[in-house]
Amino acid sequence: MSNSFQNIPGTFDILPSAQSSAADTVASTPAWQHVERTIRQVMQRHGVHEIRTPILEPTALIARGIGQLTDIVSKEMFAFERGDTHYVLRPEVTAPVMRAYLQHHLAQLGGVQRLYYIGPCFRAERPQKGRYRQFHQFGTEYIGADDARADAETILLAVDIYRELGLTDFTVRLNSLGTAATRPAYKAALQDYFRPLADQLSETSRERLESNPLRILDTKNEAERKLLEGAPVMLDHIDADSAAHYSEVKKHLAAAGLAFEEDPFLVRGLDYYTRTAFEIDSPVLGAQSTLAGGGRYDLLASEIGSKQEVPAVGFAAGMERLFLALQAAEIELPGAARPDVFVVTLGDRAASYAFPLLRAWRQAGLSAVYDLKGRSMKAQMREANRQAARRVVILGDAELDAGTAQLKHMDTGEQQSIALNDLPRVLTENAFSPKT
Ligand code: AMP
Repeated sequence: MSNSFQNIPGTFDILPSAQSSAADTVASTPAWQHVERTIRQVMQRHGVHEIRTPILEPTALIARGIGQLTDIVSKEMFAFERGDTHYVLRPEVTAPVMRAYLQHHLAQLGGVQRLYYIGPCFRAERPQKGRYRQFHQFGTEYIGADDARADAETILLAVDIYRELGLTDFTVRLNSLGTAATRPAYKAALQDYFRPLADQLSETSRERLESNPLRILDTKNEAERKLLEGAPVMLDHIDADSAAHYSEVKKHLAAAGLAFEEDPFLVRGLDYYTRTAFEIDSPVLGAQSTLAGGGRYDLLASEIGSKQEVPAVGFAAGMERLFLALQAAEIELPGAARPDVFVVTLGDRAASYAFPLLRAWRQAGLSAVYDLKGRSMKAQMREANRQAARRVVILGDAELDAGTAQLKHMDTGEQQSIALNDLPRVLTENAFSPKT
């Protein structure tokens, strides 16, 4: 069969087993399921509940929420129109979660809403390692929380997920961005510093100097990073309350024993951040080294139409980059679950006999599989091995006549003849070992 269609570059098929080359897929479905299960467990321990919002959102929500001048909104949105409606495939999930919080009046539930999500996001980027067009994010949003403990807990929660998965080689960088009120003064200070150096800036940075000078701080350009050394730092321009809040966050992180670095030039790509900003980097990821980023976004709710300010803090993390980091750290992830039993049948009579038998075993909770192609015994055994079945039951005419079957324990190679009537008991007795 010729395969004339290919997936769109920057998107992936996620296959049941990791047989494809690494360039075609990031990890197999069992690996994804394992990581997702771990994320859910850690979320549950923190009392964080899952929210699922649509993939399609109104374009204006994203444009207003994230900010017109960001790369995401200015060049990376998959957006289209149908009639009068403007749709976007969500490039991130924070603005959608805040929309849902406001729309469903979740504030009325009282307290802080601790929400998490796992799901696909879309950005029209140039595909490269760690940067895709359809990728997956997981993250939390603590909405209605201004306490510095919420910021610290957010960072620790992300760290707990990585540690729970066995990942230990990462760094946490931290900064405070102050508030909307203090930012203009800092922007002005940056402009004063960079204007006389404008001829040493890249074209992009020169544009940013007037439109959004904070973004210059994001630069990866070595020469520009050198210029940053003398630049004014945000922490010198934030208000006293933000400075106190920042100290509290650091105090809680230190009390929790988390090592972190303060990075005065960490600004994050999205406009809606206030006060705390953080990133978690993995040294093994190369150019796209950020595993997760987040911070406080007290302005977002008002930005998207709330009459009240709603303090909130959260993080977003990439699933694909997490897999790349796990692979680089040689952390083994589970493969496909092993079937409890694989039934090998020889001839039509045995196949007909096996069909209801398999149904009954499945209803009893066993994972029971067989060959659907009427292949040779050898081919069926090969398939049982490929699937790493725990046991094989061999049924042929002679066995049926005798009311018996051959039962082979694949881990030990031990084989026995067993009465058909006895099979369900023998299989179920020790089949329910926990699956990996
Ligand atoms: P952001 O929403 O840009 O702060 O991204 C949060 C995290 O999502 C990043 O740290 C990455 O791990 C991941 N991420 C963002 N954009 C992409 C992308 N295009 N491809 C893969 N992962 C991404």
